[in-house]
Amino acid sequence: MAVPRSHPRRESLLVREKLVRGLERGLVAREGLMAHGRGEAFDYLLGEATGRHARKALRAAAAVLLLAERPIISVNGNVAALCAAEAVRLARAARARMEVNTFYGDGGRRARIAAELERRGARGVLGANPESRGRLAGTSRSRGAADKEGILAADVVVVPLEDGDRTSALKAAGKQVITFDLNPLSRTARTADITIVDNITRGMDELARLCREYSARGAPALSRIVRNFDNGANLAACIREMTAGLRRQWIA
Ligand code: ATP
Ligand code: MG
Repeated sequence: MAVPRSHPRRESLLVREKLVRGLERGLVAREGLMAHGRGEAFDYLLGEATGRHARKALRAAAAVLLLAERPIISVNGNVAALCAAEAVRLARAARARMEVNTFYGDGGRRARIAAELERRGARGVLGANPESRGRLAGTSRSRGAADKEGILAADVVVVPLEDGDRTSALKAAGKQVITFDLNPLSRTARTADITIVDNITRGMDELARLCREYSARGAPALSRIVRNFDNGANLAACIREMTAGLRRQWIA
């Protein structure tokens, strides 16, 4: 379906089309469409723009990634459909490996997501090889799969659009968790160390850019950025940003 250039919601409709194409190509799970719908509602409240507090979280996330020993970028179907090239750029800028991480579905979908990342230039994508699969403690077999060389061995994991149970399991396993989540109230948003309340269609490339920008900085400067970041306070500020936007548009 062609989206008219003048349509006021053109951007958002084009993103939906990308997801539907991802579903048809066997990358996206049906459940992924609903997760996107929930994210869209919060993006509406944000004015569909990267806010001041998302930028603060992006800077802290870039610093944590550059300080990491074994960082991993986790990719699910929605990430593969919406920003595969940007995620590959982030992995390169952060010197991180990539791991396919799916909540629903079978190995076929994991293999297709890995192939999509490799088509965009990624090398050695983890998560699609059954021999290297382990499990995060405290999760069920189907929901807790993780790669022994990847997430299970990592110190820092970027898990965009992650489920709350898995995020808790990652924290219990001692990982530093960075997430993208448009819903500042979700369990993942509240459990992660750094929650970027922004759409991955905008934020992923910005995080890659910040990693490149900060790559020449030393550890003390990066550690200072991390120390000055408080995720709970930042989430509260994101919620205030949303309510202030609503008030400006509808109540004032
Ligand atoms: P939780 O399990 O953490 O409580 P949930 O069950 O409400 O969250 P999930 O489907 O588990 O939701 O996780 C998907 C999350 O990703 C949702 O919070 C949703 O708002 C968010 N999300 C969806 N699409 C995007 C997007 N394009 N960019 C950023 N966040 C998104
Ligand atoms: Mg959930």
